[in-house]
Amino acid sequence: MYEQLVPCDHCGGRPTIGRSQRLIAPCPDPIYDPSRWGRFAGPPRVGDIARRPPEAPETEPLVCIYCAECGMQTPWQPCQEDDTVARNTVAEIWNRRLNRPEAEKSDLQRLVERELGVTDIPAIIELVSRLEGDWSELGPMVKMIARRLVDATVVSFDSWPIDPVLNDAARYRKLVQLAKWVEIEGERYAQFPNVYTHPEHQDMLYEDAIAAAVDSLPDRDRW
Ligand SMILES: [Zn+2]
Repeated sequence: MYEQLVPCDHCGGRPTIGRSQRLIAPCPDPIYDPSRWGRFAGPPRVGDIARRPPEAPETEPLVCIYCAECGMQTPWQPCQEDDTVARNTVAEIWNRRLNRPEAEKSDLQRLVERELGVTDIPAIIELVSRLEGDWSELGPMVKMIARRLVDATVVSFDSWPIDPVLNDAARYRKLVQLAKWVEIEGERYAQFPNVYTHPEHQDMLYEDAIAAAVDSLPDRDRW
């Protein structure tokens, strides 16, 4: 069960098993120092597993599942020497907290209307995993989206995918970073660098050869 814990619903962190202890005695010895281990010592703390001295009020061991990143935690569950049952109980509670809203046809339709690129693949897989509905209807839409992802780098007549546009934008930005101001006859001009073209690239298509040349320029600091 423990191996099947889902990541934290809040921050995506890895759930961990937490251990602690709490008082059993309903009315601990009032003479015993109450601030340290007595009734007023506060709620159980993760990691409080040190065996207490025999004169301290009696405690029972506890387990929980918590997220080490953000501290989200299941309620404490008392456990015995063999804590399998208690661990399964808290693991079940933890997994129940995961709230994955069902995705519908309209979510897919919204995707169809958007420009999709390779970077959208994880988000789309996540959406498909939550899809509920009539698959004879959803299937073709999923297929269409998958096809568009595959084609995201290929230009066709009816679509201009986003990836080449973004790559060209990155090249332009690089050129701008390397541009210099020059003064000619009192006027200011932006001068772009001379871009070396590798002989290997001379047989490529005009646009591809220029793109390869710009790509070979040294990278400047990002904005
Ligand atoms: Zn978390």
